[in-house]
Amino acid sequence: MAVLWNRHRFSGGLLILDATNTVVLRGDAARSFDRFGDAGEIARFASVASVMRSTELGGRALSFEPSGGAVRQVMDMREAADRLFRSAASSGELRVADLSAVLRRCGACLDGADEAVGGQGRPFGNPARPMRLEAALAVSALGLLAGDVWRKIRICANCNWLFVDRSRNGSRLWCDMAVCGNRRKARRHYARKVAERELEDG
Ligand SMILES: [Zn+2]
Repeated sequence: MAVLWNRHRFSGGLLILDATNTVVLRGDAARSFDRFGDAGEIARFASVASVMRSTELGGRALSFEPSGGAVRQVMDMREAADRLFRSAASSGELRVADLSAVLRRCGACLDGADEAVGGQGRPFGNPARPMRLEAALAVSALGLLAGDVWRKIRICANCNWLFVDRSRNGSRLWCDMAVCGNRRKARRHYARKVAERELEDG
């Protein structure tokens, strides 16, 4: 079934984290699945991310040519980033072995690109033409590492996604209050009702 690439799927707050969140329920072997399992979905992710992440991308659109090599690069980049940023979110430190893997992946994704990034108002380079998704994932990951923003990465208490917590007191629990926050509340409410009923019946 085609994925509905709605706003919720872009709760990570940055392109590289949105990419890590394309694996649903990570760590839950029975229920986990990969939205990038179909390469066509990677291309659709790239085109919707162009809009959802327009500010980060400096208005540059993303493109994706689903060749075997490109699919592998996206997957390798995504998995290396997830390992590094997930452990950073729980420990507050960057594991050097994971950092090294991410940097290698970034190098591979950027290899052969004859262009410049980081210009004034052009963080991802010239917005006049699209950028390959692989290269954009690398620039997003490097941007996250360049400053202190990686310290604000959190793991959603409901769905395990990674997101940047930009709240003032840094206490956000959910990737998306409207989805995960409410689901959690509904589950607590249901559990309380069941407990009450058991008390009444007992
Ligand atoms: Zn969540």
